[in-house]
Amino acid sequence: MRHIAIIGSGPAGYYTAEAAQKQWGDDVRVDIFDMLPVPYGLIRTGVAPDHQSIKGVARRYEATALSDNVRFVGNVMVGKDVTVEELQGLYDAVVLATGAPHDRKMDLPGENLPNVYGSAAFVGWYNGHPMFANLDPDLSGDTAVVIGMGNVALDVTRILSKTREEFAGSDIVAHALDVLDTSKLRRIVILGRRGPHQIMMTPKELGELSHLSRAAPRVDPQDLPEVGEDALLEPGLRKSVNHLRSFAAIPASHYGDVPIEIEFDFYASPKAILGDGKVTGVEVERTTVEAGRAVGTGETYVIPAGLVVCCIGYQTSRIPGVPFDERAGRFPNDEGRILPGLYCVGWARRGPSGTIGTNRPDGFSVIEKIAEDIGAGAGKQGRPGFDALAQARGLDVVTFRDWKKIEAEEEARAREGAPREKFVRVEEMIAARGS
Ligand code: NAP
Repeated sequence: MRHIAIIGSGPAGYYTAEAAQKQWGDDVRVDIFDMLPVPYGLIRTGVAPDHQSIKGVARRYEATALSDNVRFVGNVMVGKDVTVEELQGLYDAVVLATGAPHDRKMDLPGENLPNVYGSAAFVGWYNGHPMFANLDPDLSGDTAVVIGMGNVALDVTRILSKTREEFAGSDIVAHALDVLDTSKLRRIVILGRRGPHQIMMTPKELGELSHLSRAAPRVDPQDLPEVGEDALLEPGLRKSVNHLRSFAAIPASHYGDVPIEIEFDFYASPKAILGDGKVTGVEVERTTVEAGRAVGTGETYVIPAGLVVCCIGYQTSRIPGVPFDERAGRFPNDEGRILPGLYCVGWARRGPSGTIGTNRPDGFSVIEKIAEDIGAGAGKQGRPGFDALAQARGLDVVTFRDWKKIEAEEEARAREGAPREKFVRVEEMIAARGS
């Protein structure tokens, strides 16, 4: 028998569990740990609440979770309630599938001013992550600056633009809907330090900006390269640039008809967040792109703004006792192996890029590595060993069966047309599982 502990119950965690089942069938026991009492990580608290079809993949993880040899061990924080070293003593392999939940820092003056948020915090707020439920952003200003030109910047921009009606069918949490209702935003500026050919936004997500009821995207035609140059782009990026071209062709008169303008500001590198007690603007330097890199021109300007959301990427959390690559913001590893017996997968392995599905081959390849290393298993204790330790420490472990009760409660309290109203505090989640 092999015993595997997976830390993190997001896509990377569940795909790895699925791969372990395929590899060993009944000859493996997998425990999936999560610091929250609820599973699915990024699917629950990262994927945008109005992208329910993407969240549907959780049904696949549930099928894995419900099998006899996979167990959810919720409400246990590895590194605090139990150490990685202890888990290594109990399991043949420990796999860190902890994602990249922290914001990369901009390292700019003013970054810590009130109403300046990283996307992990801002996305966590509208998705009901307990760590960010109290964020309470102030949307009373007329301009927001969103820094970065990736899909997270698009998510944040779209959520800031939508009306309550447009959130029908989504699982955006009530506290966020209430604050968004108070929004006085008229302008959202998306800052990209490079040009239209260097955006990280994918076509489907970019195209959604054309279908917002009270907002319209604006691109300055002068920022667009010659059409002929698009031929050199890979097909996905070419489609995204086509969307930018269609935004640039929107007649000026249209902007009078919609309350919010979403302005793409290319060749614009943030230099400082301005304000005194609260953010009042962003100082930006014009750039040119040389050999693919943004190079400052020395020309600066200020965008007055009452809200700034930095969507420039994420990094993995450190875990005591595990080596960490500070520069890359993830665990150092050789194709998923940190050390024999200790592995990483998904964003904790590769850094924060790729789609949910990219984690599947990742999970399968790390299980291949583990299979090479552990053979038939070393007779470790696995589950019973952890259960004894949890009992001795008085840990309040939340099981998958408990989660199904929490889920039923969340579904029962959903507003009309919504799939669920999430609990946003750990105590509420624990209380909802009943006795
Ligand atoms: P991302 O795709 O890496 O985009 C980050 C953006 O931030 C880039 O435009 C980057 O510009 C910019 N940036 C980085 N450092 C900067 C700095 N110091 N100053 C100014 N700009 C800076 O990251 P992401 O948007 O966080 O997305 C993470 C992953 O999740 C991606 O793979 C994304 O596709 C995926 N995702 C997918 C969806 C979806 O499919 N619906 C939704 C959300 C996220 P440079 O290119 O110049 O560095």
